[in-house]
Amino acid sequence: MKKVSLPVQILIALALGIAVGLVCYFAGAADFTAKYLKPFGDIFVNLLKFIVVPVVLLSMIDGIISMGDMKKVGAVGWKTVAYFLCTTAIACVIGLVFANIFNSMSLFPSNLSLQEGAVWDKATSANFMDTLVGIFPSNMWSAFTTSNMLQVIVIALLFGGGIMAAGEKGKLCRDIVSTFYAVIEQVMAFIISLSPIGVFTMMAWVVATQGANIIGSLVLVLLCAYLGYIVHAVLVYSMSAKVFAGMSPVRFFKGAFAAMMFAFTSTSSAATLPVSKECADELGADGEISAFVLPLGSTINMDGTAIYQCVATIFLASCAGVQLGLGQMVTIVVTATLASIGTAGVSGAGMIMLAMVLTAMGIDVNLIMIIYGVDRLFDMGRTCLNVTGDIACAVCVSKWEGKKRN
Ligand code: ASP
Repeated sequence: MKKVSLPVQILIALALGIAVGLVCYFAGAADFTAKYLKPFGDIFVNLLKFIVVPVVLLSMIDGIISMGDMKKVGAVGWKTVAYFLCTTAIACVIGLVFANIFNSMSLFPSNLSLQEGAVWDKATSANFMDTLVGIFPSNMWSAFTTSNMLQVIVIALLFGGGIMAAGEKGKLCRDIVSTFYAVIEQVMAFIISLSPIGVFTMMAWVVATQGANIIGSLVLVLLCAYLGYIVHAVLVYSMSAKVFAGMSPVRFFKGAFAAMMFAFTSTSSAATLPVSKECADELGADGEISAFVLPLGSTINMDGTAIYQCVATIFLASCAGVQLGLGQMVTIVVTATLASIGTAGVSGAGMIMLAMVLTAMGIDVNLIMIIYGVDRLFDMGRTCLNVTGDIACAVCVSKWEGKKRN
């Protein structure tokens, strides 16, 4: 018998979860889902929480090491990273603007009572100076055991920098990081392969406790993210094509279309690499430049993921009845930018990093259950945007270096 692919399994799990949830809701059997189905969702979320620290730590160190080679590529390297960082920060702002508009129009549910007696953690409300000081760990292990993600990032940056500075002597450490990262990626792939179970049990429980209304809310949060994706593509990539690469946006999107579609269906920037390389070269990018920019982009440049993380954070904060202030929005921009850098270019990775943003904001990670069921639908759009950003960068940097063909 042919094995059913993961996306299809997830879709079936989603439909079944909604159906079972609705039946239990109307039959007044929400308790049944809380007692017998939710625990499996809990196991899944526990696994997500468990993997997030090693993934962030290793992927960040690995990212820095791969950027270390940038010295060899000189100006191209810095221009590429500057382009990636600026566009990702803009993506976060766009995501936050849309999420706040939706939130202020009361389109997101507020203060859901998901469980009797549940108390959601309050979002961190310390002032800027306290937050700044708090980012720097005084004890490495306590950063890991309390999942203090900002501190974990600082530790990763320090170790990454240290490994680079140690040069030849640091080679063993560098190899150990790559080896561990390869292993962690496999563990992550295994956890993601359990998605259908997570999707079914969480969807059934959420719908059984919240009723059909929650489905409407999920449609709205998806709409919000997709509006962000589209506006980012139209504003940022059209402008980049026009202003930096001197190319009509229509030509750019036509040229990138094949990779965009491949990314949309595969939900993996890494798997889309060969197609994006072809598209970028076809659009006139220099072969050597695109060979550097695209693989790096598929690991660290995730504009779609950044938008998704911002929208999802505001949505889940609203579900938990937490109102976020301006300072916390800035923290979201910083953590979502870093989280998107740390996101691997594989299916579902952005959702694992969402756990990091939520942890950094002091928002209960269990809330991920609410949107987990539809993560694949978010992932299709965000991967499509991620890949488009990589191609736009390859074309722009080629132009800046005076190497763009036609
Ligand atoms: N699937 C995305 C990508 O490969 C990463 C994510 O899950 O956000 O680009």
